[in-house]
Amino acid sequence: MTKLIINQLSKTYQNGHRALDEVSLEIGKGMFGLLGQNGAGKSTLMRTLATLQDADAGTVFLDGLDVLKQPQEVRKVLGYLPQDFGVYPNVSAHEMLAYIASMKGVRSGKGLKEAVDELLARVNLYDVRHKKLGTYSGGMKQRFGIAQALIGQPMLIIVDEPTAGLDPWERNRFYNLLSQIGENTIVILSTHIVEDVATLCRDMAIMGQGKVLLTGKPQQLEQTLLGHLWQKPVSRDELERCQQQLSVISSHFHAGQLHVTVLANEAPDSQFISKPPTLEDVYFTQL
Ligand code: ADP
Repeated sequence: MTKLIINQLSKTYQNGHRALDEVSLEIGKGMFGLLGQNGAGKSTLMRTLATLQDADAGTVFLDGLDVLKQPQEVRKVLGYLPQDFGVYPNVSAHEMLAYIASMKGVRSGKGLKEAVDELLARVNLYDVRHKKLGTYSGGMKQRFGIAQALIGQPMLIIVDEPTAGLDPWERNRFYNLLSQIGENTIVILSTHIVEDVATLCRDMAIMGQGKVLLTGKPQQLEQTLLGHLWQKPVSRDELERCQQQLSVISSHFHAGQLHVTVLANEAPDSQFISKPPTLEDVYFTQL
């Protein structure tokens, strides 16, 4: 059974910032969501898992492979879609994938061409495979990014902040694509967008200030809040009063009206109504 086991991983940057603080996680096959605000340490963790930077302490094992000590071996079974996915604008998708495939040790010749064509079809870029990458839209570039991460049938795929900048239509296509590959591979999806995790992931963790704050299955984590969330429409002044007196987890506008959500064992007053928990509520209780 393929597993990624991260144990007590720590990293302090040269400026003294502790980006990872004894992070421990066990991640099996399927889609794993890593949620956290900007600055939580997600990218640092992703880059470390992708063998692109060192840790100060701790271990990472992918089955029998020591990720920190055997980076060359790990790269053969790793697919990585980084946050800033630069493409060479004057190269076609087909040329670029063939190049990456040969670097990753996919044998050249007919096998390679077939593998590349198959991947391009899978991400819906076959018809535009000879177009230059510079002419691709944001969504097309992201799908190309997935194709290059899938080359060589990796055991572990790391996707860092994938849906930033995608329109709803492209985002939906991207979700569909990711969910198809999740079954037999470990896919780690790092994001600050709760909906990405709620839509796609079977297991998840929330990170904050370099630490793992919470792990579990999205639905189970939501269940823990059942019966403890209360909501009501408020004015700005009332919101301030709530913030002073109650455990407010969020406030947001809905159809032009401000609503407050509080955590409590029973309704704080008769205007509050019970709110069914969402993953966003779980996230907000951790911030
Ligand atoms: P996230 O991906 O969750 O936004 P990052 O891992 O990018 O978080 O960053 C975690 C913290 O580490 C941030 O406060 C960031 O400013 C800091 N950081 C990231 N990279 C470096 C670096 N190369 N040097 C110094 N500090 C860094």
